[in-house]
Amino acid sequence: MTRSKVHEFNAPSGWNALLPPRRPTEPIRGKHRVKYAVVGAGYTGTAAARRLHELDPAGDIMLVDAGTVGEGSSGRNSGFTRPLEFPMELTRANAGKVAKIKPFYEEGFYWLKDIVERHGIDCGLVRAGVIRGAATDLGESRIRTASAVMDELGYEHRIVPREELNDRVATAYYRCGLLVTDSYLLQPAALIRGLVDNLPREIAVHEGSTVRRMSRPGKWVLELDGATIEADQVVLATNAYVKHFGYLVDRTVATYTYAAITEAMAPEDAARTGSMTHWGILPPHKMGTTCRRVSENRLMVRSLASYEGELRPDVVKAGLTDIFRARWPHLAHVKLEHVWGGATAFTMNGSPWWGKFDEGLFSAGGCNGAGITKGTLLGKRLAELMTGHGDHSGLADAFGEPSWLAPEPFRRIGYHVIARKERKLAGAER
Ligand SMILES: Cc1cc2nc3c(=O)[nH]c(=O)nc-3n(C[C@H](O)[C@H](O)[C@H](O)COP(=O)(O)OP(=O)(O)OC[C@H]3O[C@@H](n4cnc5c(N)ncnc54)[C@H](O)[C@@H]3O)c2cc1C
Repeated sequence: MTRSKVHEFNAPSGWNALLPPRRPTEPIRGKHRVKYAVVGAGYTGTAAARRLHELDPAGDIMLVDAGTVGEGSSGRNSGFTRPLEFPMELTRANAGKVAKIKPFYEEGFYWLKDIVERHGIDCGLVRAGVIRGAATDLGESRIRTASAVMDELGYEHRIVPREELNDRVATAYYRCGLLVTDSYLLQPAALIRGLVDNLPREIAVHEGSTVRRMSRPGKWVLELDGATIEADQVVLATNAYVKHFGYLVDRTVATYTYAAITEAMAPEDAARTGSMTHWGILPPHKMGTTCRRVSENRLMVRSLASYEGELRPDVVKAGLTDIFRARWPHLAHVKLEHVWGGATAFTMNGSPWWGKFDEGLFSAGGCNGAGITKGTLLGKRLAELMTGHGDHSGLADAFGEPSWLAPEPFRRIGYHVIARKERKLAGAER
């Protein structure tokens, strides 16, 4: 099987940098024999490990991650989540699928929320009510269609006019927005730290532990630097890096996207960042920009995308600075203090993968830009599948399966052609 080569990000996560230092767990050393090995301590792997322990408390579990907790994509994202999900372009044509997925989203979201509350995880989880902001004709038409479909689906929402948006988030950049009330914001690095640090202590967690190779001479054998793990069952919760083990090479690509958090603003600048204590704006186009308030005196922007590798740091910083200044010209002097990239596992049709790959080998991933709730749900359900609990036919039916992607070099060429077209279409939503 292929050797794994985990991407090292160009810059640390800004979310993690805002938190106090945390001491990582020790890298794994020596020979180990366990019932369950979970590879990847993001939302998916952590949920799988927790649920495995709930359902099989006597089964020993080892959770390993190549990096340190908070520095993977689970600590690099924008921190938007909710108990329902719908595509950027919600129409009558996909409303049926959205309604089908809803109970699964609710299951993942409320299970996660309960863990956060039970363990007192201080990740700023707040029901902020997120706005999809429209800056173009296309964006406005999409949110008006989405609003009509949400009326039919019975989702609480309303159109927010430009003046109100301007007051809420201190920018006249958007023409209007679609406020979806049941939406939450959180500090993602604080969440993933809290999820890992509050796992039952019977679960052995090792950071700085890259699984280099896997084979199945009888049981599964995972080879790491200076260590091996023999396991009855393995969860590959490595998201985009699943391809390095030879799986899903024709179903997923790693796309990188980028975020920045401003420096702490002076009180007179912070006073000009909107009347709402918590706010977040999502784009109506996949090449669009996400923004949010981070604390009382910082803002965050997330935008730009690249294929199977990171953009140059100076290109990212310049791009995100332009995006920030276009929205808040009165804050043009404010610097972006933390600028970083993160990976998402993109699938062509937006469907994640979930289930059994091989005897004793399970995996889930491909949550595109919605892994907080979806990764949690899929990790939880993987553990149930592995231990013979529950009926999962509805899950597979609701989410579908990732569609086929053409091989290289056609895939790369296709990606760039589509990305160019979509960037043009997104216009000022970028
Ligand atoms: C900038 C950005 C903004 C985003 N915004 C949002 C958002 O607002 N809301 C949302 O829901 N989602 C968002 N996402 C997506 C979200 O971050 C992902 O969907 C989520 O992190 C997926 O979780 P995961 O556990 O499946 O994978 P990851 O978080 O990628 O975790 C996989 C882990 O596997 C480890 N690993 C990989 N290979 C190996 C190996 N060989 N050995 C050991 N360990 C290995 C990695 O170190 C990593 O920690 C965003 C993503 C980015 C990059």
